[in-house]
Amino acid sequence: MHPYQHLWHTGNPIELPLGKIVCVGRNYAAHARELNNPVPDTPLLFMKPATAATALEQPVRLPQGRGDVHFETELAVLIDKPLTNATEADVRDAIVGYGLALDLTLRDVQSQLKAKGQPWERAKAFDGACPLSPFVPADAVDHGEPIRFTLDIDDHRQQTGTTADMLFPIVPLIAHMSEHFTLMPGDVILTGTPEGVGPLYPGQKLSLALGESMMVDTKVV
Ligand code: ZN
Repeated sequence: MHPYQHLWHTGNPIELPLGKIVCVGRNYAAHARELNNPVPDTPLLFMKPATAATALEQPVRLPQGRGDVHFETELAVLIDKPLTNATEADVRDAIVGYGLALDLTLRDVQSQLKAKGQPWERAKAFDGACPLSPFVPADAVDHGEPIRFTLDIDDHRQQTGTTADMLFPIVPLIAHMSEHFTLMPGDVILTGTPEGVGPLYPGQKLSLALGESMMVDTKVV
């Protein structure tokens, strides 16, 4: 596997280490409903380790023999300052880039874990569980309007997300995360998936777009 390195969308490396990926589940009401989950009143947080990250442009390799692997297309936020008990102003100052991620999920494994009340790492934290796109500088993406992103599979629109539909918007969400875990420069925040998730199959072609700012193609093997 390629060692993962944060990149700008121009191809230049970003001189920040990836420490951890902090994620939120059920941040879009329509996605919570499609999996028959309740809509949470506090963010449902979990993490993926740095070893889960791969470059999205590399082929997405599905784990074998562990049941369905679902895609969840998510807006990824890169920070460049430490955040502990951060204010919303601190968070705004720390957001350096936006990208796209696939929160790959072993859905059958996750269902078994949920039924037993166990943590989700076996389903969410495996090697390769977090393909990450390059990042676009924050000020080129965030103009104070909702940020939109899409996933096409084999030229068919599969997921459409907008930050306007998030139950917990990005800045207060990251501030909340920083009350529970210190976030470090180079950490990535995944902000939840809109509806339309489903299984991946070898041979599929995926195209992810971050508004008008970036398009990334990859394939499933
Ligand atoms: Zn997710």
